[in-house]
Amino acid sequence: MARPRKRRRREAKKVPRSTATLEEYDRRSYPEGLVTRRQLREMGLSPGGHGPVAVLRCRYCAYRPDQSCNHPTRAWLYTVELARPKRVPTLAQEWALDRAMAARSTCPTCCRRYYFCLPLRTQGRCDPCARGYEPSPDTYFASTAPVTHRLAA
Ligand SMILES: [Zn+2]
Ligand SMILES: [Zn+2]
Repeated sequence: MARPRKRRRREAKKVPRSTATLEEYDRRSYPEGLVTRRQLREMGLSPGGHGPVAVLRCRYCAYRPDQSCNHPTRAWLYTVELARPKRVPTLAQEWALDRAMAARSTCPTCCRRYYFCLPLRTQGRCDPCARGYEPSPDTYFASTAPVTHRLAA
């Protein structure tokens, strides 16, 4: 049974503003305490697990106040009160990440650590090992010692 393909509409549908789920504000007239995602970031904050509480309408919609703005240039507004300080990865988290990256880019056969991830799940080793050629030296870390973590100061 062939299901008809869902057609994706390119143009936004017109939705009356009264049925909008979030409050909508026009640019320059939104209440204090609401900020956009970028403003949050500039304040060193993250939404803190909270979704947006309102929509900042796009410029075009300033001329159609009875319509809900569902255009891509709208922005989400977040409450500063609910925001939390941005989480800075701890040293332990960075190490864990680096270990994970190392595991994905190190060949178990030749123990070289490459600058890219290897097809370990399918091939189980690096291309040079699988096909029997010398890898070019600019594709892997030169030293065989474990790569020291370079932390940004
Ligand atoms: Zn709009
Ligand atoms: Zn290898």
